[in-house]
Amino acid sequence: MADHAPVPLLDLGAQYDAVGDDVRAAVERVLATHIFIGGPEVEGLEAEILDYCGMPGGSAVGLSSGTDALLAALMALGVGPGDEVVTTPFTFFATAGTIHRTGAAPVFADILPETFNLDPEAVRRAIARPRTKAVIPVHLYGQCADMDAILDAAGDVPVIEDAAQALGAEDKGRRAGSMGLAGCFSFFPSKNLGATGDAGMLVSRDPSFGERVRKLRNHGETTRYHHQLVGGNFRLDAMHAAALRVKLPHLDGWSDARGRNAEKYNTLFREAGLVGDAIAALPDKGAGRHVFNQYVLRVKNRDALVKFLQSDAKVGCAIYYPIPLHLQECFAYLGYKEGDFPAAERAAQETIALPVFPELTGEQQRYVVESIKRFYAGK
Ligand SMILES: *Cc1c(COP(=O)(O)O)cnc(C)c1O
Repeated sequence: MADHAPVPLLDLGAQYDAVGDDVRAAVERVLATHIFIGGPEVEGLEAEILDYCGMPGGSAVGLSSGTDALLAALMALGVGPGDEVVTTPFTFFATAGTIHRTGAAPVFADILPETFNLDPEAVRRAIARPRTKAVIPVHLYGQCADMDAILDAAGDVPVIEDAAQALGAEDKGRRAGSMGLAGCFSFFPSKNLGATGDAGMLVSRDPSFGERVRKLRNHGETTRYHHQLVGGNFRLDAMHAAALRVKLPHLDGWSDARGRNAEKYNTLFREAGLVGDAIAALPDKGAGRHVFNQYVLRVKNRDALVKFLQSDAKVGCAIYYPIPLHLQECFAYLGYKEGDFPAAERAAQETIALPVFPELTGEQQRYVVESIKRFYAGK
């Protein structure tokens, strides 16, 4: 077993083998134009993402990162000191960090143990009108939160979707990012559609909201040196946009391959007799389209399994996320304590992410499953 070649958590080299020539050509075209920020590549990508999300008549704004997309969305809503924004404690830091940066307070609501996404009833309880200025559900790991129930709980409070991990995911036929007031995407290299650096985008079905974000992207400028709002430098570089435009036509193929890999794991884990005991439950795909940015299991004896996979079996794995946000040092001032969000706390202790990238082979998957079986057999 130990002789097996290491299996990485993510292998971007395999993707680059497939699209590298086209990416290089696109980047060289940008170099030749000397239009490095904004311009036709960014506008082209904006139109293509809007189309991909099924949002005719909406607005898309290329931004410097997924984090900046969230920040710009909150700024466009005018969120500030004294305000509250409801979100999940079981997410990447940026979701709550951007709320804090506006001067508002993150207010957490617990997750559903099956999907790790926000519990709509907990959202309902966390909303305190008139202080609550927004709700941010996260489509964690590439699976949409229960948007109808969350929109219903939010009522007239605007919903901003953190769709950083979920471009192309669907809930009842609607694409991630298209269901709330706005959706925020990240093109961080490890996301399903990754740029050649940091990049992001906001989409909104309300064009006037989109235009407000477009101004904020460039220091709130309307015409040169006239600043209607205080924004930031949230601009998207043309080289990233060009590379993303090369990759976008491949995205559905890659996401479907991730879905097939997830199905294959599910079969292999069942066949190995690991489900129900060592593995509490397999990912629940639900009725929508899960794009499996991560394949995450809830397992027994998690920390020891991670150590075994990384050190002995040489299988790449990760914990997303080991510390729920209500227990982060920087948020101590919010006054939360251990036990406040039991489902999020359990998820942080019990989950593990396994390799699920599109080019993962069946042989590699069998090795991952055999390694896990070996761990629980105590061999
Ligand atoms: C990646 C990610 C972000 C931040 O995106 P960046 O492009 O890295 O700034 C925000 N929220 C979630 C859930 C993410 O996974």
